[in-house]
Amino acid sequence: MIGTGYVGLVSGVCFSDFGHDVVCVDTNDQKIAMLRGGQSPIYEPGLDALMAKNVEAGRLSFSTDLAASVNAVDAVFIAVGTPTRRGEGHADLTYVYAAAREIAKALSGPTVVVVKSTVPVGTNREVLRIMREVRPELAVDVASNPEFLREGAAIADFMRPDRVVVGAESQTARDVMRALYRPLSLREVPIIFSSLESAEIIKYAANAFLATKITFINEIADLCEKVGGDVQDVAKGIGLDGRIGGKFLHPGPGYGGSCFPKDTIALTRTGQQHNVPIRIVETVIAVNQARKLGMIDRIAAMLDGELVNRRVAVLGVTFKPDTDDMREAPALTIVPALIGGGASVAVCDPQGKKEGVTLLPGVAWFDDPYEAAAGADAVVVLTEWNMFRGLDLSRLRQGMRGDALVDLRNIYLPADAVAAGLRYASIGRVAAA
Ligand code: NAD
Repeated sequence: MIGTGYVGLVSGVCFSDFGHDVVCVDTNDQKIAMLRGGQSPIYEPGLDALMAKNVEAGRLSFSTDLAASVNAVDAVFIAVGTPTRRGEGHADLTYVYAAAREIAKALSGPTVVVVKSTVPVGTNREVLRIMREVRPELAVDVASNPEFLREGAAIADFMRPDRVVVGAESQTARDVMRALYRPLSLREVPIIFSSLESAEIIKYAANAFLATKITFINEIADLCEKVGGDVQDVAKGIGLDGRIGGKFLHPGPGYGGSCFPKDTIALTRTGQQHNVPIRIVETVIAVNQARKLGMIDRIAAMLDGELVNRRVAVLGVTFKPDTDDMREAPALTIVPALIGGGASVAVCDPQGKKEGVTLLPGVAWFDDPYEAAAGADAVVVLTEWNMFRGLDLSRLRQGMRGDALVDLRNIYLPADAVAAGLRYASIGRVAAA
């Protein structure tokens, strides 16, 4: 498994738990040193224990030596990052192609090279071309195996996925992939075999669809606010329709994270490149960006339009709960704008501090939400960690200087907030009278 990030490490650990022998490789020697010491470099619930179990069983190891690790293996997975290329929006494939070349040079026999990273259509065929160019004498197959796990629930998602997608064009590749995922057949997980191109498009289409669904309910929430509807009721009312489905209908401050923002942009770039603009996704990107900025106005409005010398407590800064991942988190737009506007910001997040100390300079960090809220004019819920769901709102209010609660995840009931003496704003719901 080349790359020990959120996807590579979880996939490697889970494959070893399936009974396969796995070596996880990374160029980052600090990560490998931590992993060898039994510590995961990322926060993912359940990962440390599953890692320890499989290291103990002798099936899982970690290395910085790619060449030695791909010697005599059945499959090599590429799970390196594919971030947005600086300044334009296409996926940056530098890491994928560099890994592919390194693998090609080091292979000692026939192998299936599997691209797990999210890559634009055409990339797998280019990886195949690289393999044939560097090692014309070797029978190397390429398979596209996009990953759909969600951070925060990554192990369960890997072990019990809705489906596994495999783009493969040779019997060998299909056989190896089927064998690797055999443990899932007991759970009757469907494996979709397709061409390399279809597998690549499936991943981007899935993420773009989900980003569109979130953006759709966000705009419906705005309408609810204006006309007196309740978006929670609306989401339930449409979500029970089997054609729509209730998931991803939670309104909020705009989607973030390591996948939706970069994958939607990359898909629109691919569309433009082929003269097939995917206008619905182009609009989703613009609406979502505007939404994150619009949250700043919402917070300011609850402070009578004034940020100077105001104190704001922000609960949660990671892009979603149960992860330490801060990539493209709405907090990265909202918190600097609050500080830029003259406010002082206190943050409480159970996992966000590690990355947050560099990404959010100038904030004060607290482990306890009541301490973060002490003396605040407004408390803003940005990430719905469980630890914030059951707060005693009266106690929160008593410690505050002001009385504004801006709940951008709808985790409280308007009536409860008002009963605690708070002025309450949420998303797509009219505050209780
Ligand atoms: P990440 O940035 O967390 O990890 C990538 C790792 O690859 C890093 O540790 C880096 O050091 C390592 N790396 C880079 N080049 C290497 C090389 N040549 N050899 C060895 N290691 C190398 O990334 P991630 O979040 O795990 O994402 C990986 C891919 O999976 C991306 O394409 C992403 O779009 C996709 N994906 C991510 C998620 C998610 O939730 N994070 C979900 C599905 C798919």
